[in-house]
Amino acid sequence: MPRSTKIVATLGPASSDSTVLERMLRAGVDVVRLNFSHGSAADHEQRAALVKSIASKTGRTVAIMCDLQGPKIRVGRFKDGKITLERGQRFVLDAACELGDSERSGLDYKELPRDVEPGAVLLLDDGKIVLEVTGVKGDEVQTVVRHGGVLSNNKGINRQGGGLTAAALTSKDMEDIRTAVKIQADYLAVSFPKSGADMYMARELMRAAGGNAFLIAKIERAEAVAESALVDIMRGSDGIMVARGDLAVEVGDAAVPALQKKMIRLGREHNRLTITATQMMESMISSPVPTRAEVSDVANAVLDGTDAVMLSAETASGRYPVEVVQAMDRICIEAEQTQPLNLDQDFFNRVFTRVDQSIAMAALFTAYHLKVKAIASLTESGSTALWMSRLNAGVPIYALTSQTSTRYRCALFREVFPLMVKYVGHDREELLREAEKVLVENKVVKAGDLIVLTIGEPIGKAGGTNTMKIVRVGEHRTP
Ligand code: PEP
Repeated sequence: MPRSTKIVATLGPASSDSTVLERMLRAGVDVVRLNFSHGSAADHEQRAALVKSIASKTGRTVAIMCDLQGPKIRVGRFKDGKITLERGQRFVLDAACELGDSERSGLDYKELPRDVEPGAVLLLDDGKIVLEVTGVKGDEVQTVVRHGGVLSNNKGINRQGGGLTAAALTSKDMEDIRTAVKIQADYLAVSFPKSGADMYMARELMRAAGGNAFLIAKIERAEAVAESALVDIMRGSDGIMVARGDLAVEVGDAAVPALQKKMIRLGREHNRLTITATQMMESMISSPVPTRAEVSDVANAVLDGTDAVMLSAETASGRYPVEVVQAMDRICIEAEQTQPLNLDQDFFNRVFTRVDQSIAMAALFTAYHLKVKAIASLTESGSTALWMSRLNAGVPIYALTSQTSTRYRCALFREVFPLMVKYVGHDREELLREAEKVLVENKVVKAGDLIVLTIGEPIGKAGGTNTMKIVRVGEHRTP
């Protein structure tokens, strides 16, 4: 069985060369992430075009995810580029300051003085520097340094425990949504959403710009992790990202492993996708092999049931962008092989009321018990494949589609492998024969293998799956 867990790789200077990118894709990248916190629209457009051309040359299905910067709250710039803060010294965050020095810094988020009060703890540069608020006066947040260090231009600010009121979508994000639509992104990741409303707003903006990408909510605010908030956010999204970098700063690093498990479980229960992100193979930014802890981290995310594991700086600016993908690939494969299957147990408490979803569940259950070679889901929107992939049956699910957007979208679904079927007629038997041909041509199955097929009639209608068929390849009849 091919690797089920998908690999997302962030592009950057280390992975923009076409030879490197081709080796990365061949090593197993399923989704590339264009990080809109860095680079210009032209850079992203150029990278997306390169990915598309290499993917088509190598015959791989590689989806594109555009990741919006969101309201990252940052200090301003310093006269000398950076300062050193000493424990116990006073330091002012001043919304009116243009260029900072060792006593004060500007702020790109002018509302900060209204969002904090004495006693609030501010974490700068991913928590490396800790400031405690002692007072607020007009535009100034007065603080005392609790943990010092070097602070350079534009480093991020988080408030411990959350509570900053910044809107999830900035004017830069709105501009970037237009670029994502132009690129024809398959996924759009929204940073720092606090509620489902933020995600509805992102979807409306994207639709208004003419896009139809799947939306991923990055869970990185303390306000977003309560179960009610997570479910609300998931209702407005197609998937979530466990954005462990900012999340660890807001909720404390020790809380993140349990939150990761909760998010992945809830994602699967609510038929949403999950991506586990940040520092998964951090040491491979400068080392050709991962640490034992990193190997365990990736394997545990696989065992938690994540759809995808993500690489950030490792592939964007690291020295080993190809080797890190190869390492992730082998760790995922080995972890998947040790994963216990218990589909009967997993079916308890599953509620499904739709006809198409019931067929998907019936097909999965049948495939698991008959131990078939593959499930082939003839799908317009990808929903049937998505539902099946929320439970682990250990049977590969081939999403056979005539829709290019569905093909790319499915690249992120765990245990789902998209293939194009170019049939445009309306004859069910002809379509099934065509599907079988595609599976054989792609060496997924051979004559004599048993497969489970799902299909909808009338042919070509999204949401119309209403039939399951068990077929022995080459015989094309029910055994
Ligand atoms: C994170 O904070 O973990 C994350 C994925 O977001 P970004 O890399 O955009 O800061």
